[in-house]
Amino acid sequence: MSLDGRYDADNIFAKIIRGEIPCVKVFEDDQVLVFMDVFPQARGHMLVISKTSQARNLLEAEAKTLGRLIGATQKAAAAVVAALKPDGVVVTQFNGAPAGQTVFHLHFHVIPRYEGEGLGRHGEGGMANVEDLKALAAKISAAL
Ligand code: AMP
Repeated sequence: MSLDGRYDADNIFAKIIRGEIPCVKVFEDDQVLVFMDVFPQARGHMLVISKTSQARNLLEAEAKTLGRLIGATQKAAAAVVAALKPDGVVVTQFNGAPAGQTVFHLHFHVIPRYEGEGLGRHGEGGMANVEDLKALAAKISAAL
């Protein structure tokens, strides 16, 4: 999907927000949801999404939505640093399929990096064990 197009209300993140498919939640409020990426590029990889906006990407986002999302992204990054003690944190965000976007509901990736450990390839990693993700999410949310 290119940068042009319409929001698909049946995209996977919309279904997660509606509770139609499960996710491993880290935290949420009335506007944002942070949950574990099920194909993590590194241990503690999280996704930050808006629960209310239908922006597919950064270019379509309302300023207020972006403010809430980046605030939640910072909060998630701080919590994962406190909980898992990585050596660095990467924040990424992709716009349009040619740029690497695979889910067309605006989101930020928060990916801890550990010295000496490579980064998994975006969109090509294996599926994580859900119990492992739940344990990580509990640890991260305890550090909020
Ligand atoms: P992007 O490629 O930037 O659009 O990112 C989409 C991300 O969503 C990828 O990192 C996927 O691993 C992740 N993902 C896809 N389906 C799910 C799901 N059901 N639960 C959690 N993460 C998912």
